[in-house]
Amino acid sequence: MSNNLTSRYGTMVFSDHVMKQYLPSDTYKMLSRTIKEGKPLDLDVANTVAHAMKTWAIEHGATHFAHWFQPLTGITSEKHDSFIEPVGDGTAITKFSGKELVQGEPDASSFPNGGLRATFEARGYSAWDPTSYAFIKDEVLCIPTAFCSYTGEALDKKTPLLRSISAIDTQTKRVLALFGKHPSRVVVNVGTEQEYFLISEKDYEKRQDLVMTGRTLFGAPPCKGQELDEHYFGAIRPTVNAFMKELDDVLWGFAVAAKTKHNEVAPAQHELAPVFSNVNRAIDENLLTMEEMKLLASHHGLVCLQHEKPFEGINGSGKHNNWSIGTEDENLLDPGDTPEDNLQFLVFLTCIIEAVDNYQDLLRMSVASCSNDHRLGADEAPPAIVSIFLGDELSGIIDALAEGHEASHALRASLDFGVDVLPNLERDTTDRNRTSPFAFTGNKFEFRMPGSSGNVSDANMVLDTAVAKSLKSFADAMEARGEEGFRTAAVAYIKRVLAQHKRILFSGDGYSEEWHEEARRRGLCDFPTTADALPCFVAPKNLALFEEMGVLSETEAKSRYEVKLEKYNKLMNIEATTMRRMARRTYLPVISAYATKIAKGITTITEAMPTAGMQHERAELATLTDGVNAIYEGLDELATLHEKAEACTDSQEKANVYAHEVNPAMERLRAAVDAMEPIVAREYWPVPTYDDILFYA
Ligand code: ADP
Ligand code: MG
Repeated sequence: MSNNLTSRYGTMVFSDHVMKQYLPSDTYKMLSRTIKEGKPLDLDVANTVAHAMKTWAIEHGATHFAHWFQPLTGITSEKHDSFIEPVGDGTAITKFSGKELVQGEPDASSFPNGGLRATFEARGYSAWDPTSYAFIKDEVLCIPTAFCSYTGEALDKKTPLLRSISAIDTQTKRVLALFGKHPSRVVVNVGTEQEYFLISEKDYEKRQDLVMTGRTLFGAPPCKGQELDEHYFGAIRPTVNAFMKELDDVLWGFAVAAKTKHNEVAPAQHELAPVFSNVNRAIDENLLTMEEMKLLASHHGLVCLQHEKPFEGINGSGKHNNWSIGTEDENLLDPGDTPEDNLQFLVFLTCIIEAVDNYQDLLRMSVASCSNDHRLGADEAPPAIVSIFLGDELSGIIDALAEGHEASHALRASLDFGVDVLPNLERDTTDRNRTSPFAFTGNKFEFRMPGSSGNVSDANMVLDTAVAKSLKSFADAMEARGEEGFRTAAVAYIKRVLAQHKRILFSGDGYSEEWHEEARRRGLCDFPTTADALPCFVAPKNLALFEEMGVLSETEAKSRYEVKLEKYNKLMNIEATTMRRMARRTYLPVISAYATKIAKGITTITEAMPTAGMQHERAELATLTDGVNAIYEGLDELATLHEKAEACTDSQEKANVYAHEVNPAMERLRAAVDAMEPIVAREYWPVPTYDDILFYA
């Protein structure tokens, strides 16, 4: 019996449950096989599925269908076609064929492709991804699809992700076979914790920087920030609560299992976490969630900011990517408590450590964006250096294995007999290092670097590919081991690989300055900005990885690198332009007007009363005129560097100028304007301040 709450769940998705109801049983079986085993679907079956989908969708109010895909811009795209088909006598029937379900042909010329396609062959095609559910959004049946060029190159975020899932599936099965296990499939599970800010629409509209760039380019610190810790988990304000309720309701309809919602650390900051699902579906769900958040906020006079750092000086927003691999029977990252499980767990753990160390640069690159640059390494966000936190118990075991007999007494005695003695690791929240970018949390890893506004396909694609590669190396080594027993060979392998890669393990404070030095000493990558991080996408070792694992061809990887660079440069150009315009047109006129008012006051009062002196007012006037000068100087400097960046013809060089010259100049101009904010009279200040936005909304 379903009650009102559960009966709403999943009503808008063509789920397995709905498929069973609407599809003839043989069609259902064939579709299930396609979904589980990736077997191609023949057109007859596709026609039957399309018919059932159309019937279900129209019953639920849909008028159109759309192939829903994720171009390289990172957001989702859709083009709506109605089900209506005129028959020529002034009436119409509805039509939706298997061909229309399986393949679409959007004109792809306006989507970024990094030079992959010439405009004369602009067509791309979108192909149905039956492993994620179709759903009805705003009267449109949305069909999740992959998006490729006619020559088969991926033009989207989903295709490489699906390829990486297939790579990790293959290699995990090889490793499990060594343990005598033969699961029918491997599942990568992901739970994304989505952080966001909600501010009033009225404030938002008055700030050109928020409208154009999603963050405040100016703004003095508020009278209070987050130092009182009063917002975190605090009571939720009624407007916000109304928004969250509506959001939950809509998401449940999409079978997105929105689970946790709460106020976050920064004022006006919140979080939503769904129950994890398989990575492909989890990402579709997250994209849908982000879209609904923006849309529904407007019903409540609010704007949802998903930028990683909308406000300087208080926490930014991330999207923690909780990640694990499993089969239908077990979570492979669960340490378990039998000896056999212990060795298996240690093999997977070792391969993950190796993968993260070998491809730390790619992981860093996968989360790099113009907006996340402001978050990584600032307030409560992980640093831009990748390292792994395992917790005390597990670190002890790994150290002992890697260092042989230098381990502590307690562990040594048992480790000498093999690796049969993993303690029951507690899934204890106290054993957490919040400063770590990649932390083991009991039975999963939490990758904390992804930013709130991004699509986590890239991060998961890199992670899955890198881990697939380590698993492959292990399976290759074991298959070539000759006469040696499997357990002995596996333990020796683990010890050797851990000794090579233990530099990536770090339990200390990731925010500290010492860690930066220590990381440098260990030879870990430190890429402070997107411009520094992107080139590794096309480093020979990384191109070789993508090629070997069948995830991205060299051409595809290079085009993606180009697209990311272009996007970064365009966003930086927009920020620099907005900033210059606001400084000149929004701030300077009012600061000058206020200085003039003070000057007139001095003249008038001195005329009326020559003995008044007016030292304080004169000093204030001097501060204001100095401030105006500093803003003009800042503007000149920014203009010069901005033009220098725009004049670069090489996109990497342009990105370097933006990251290392334009950005610092933007910070200096901001500082000059912000210094005036606490001095200029409140009624003169032209935009809502941090106090207004964060506390009065
Ligand atoms: P927090 O880190 O805030 O304590 P939770 O423990 O509630 O968060 O979990 C955060 C996310 O991790 C949720 O989306 C949850 O569903 C997901 N999660 C839990 N277990 C797993 C797992 N084995 N694999 C992947 N994600 C998981
Ligand atoms: Mg978390």
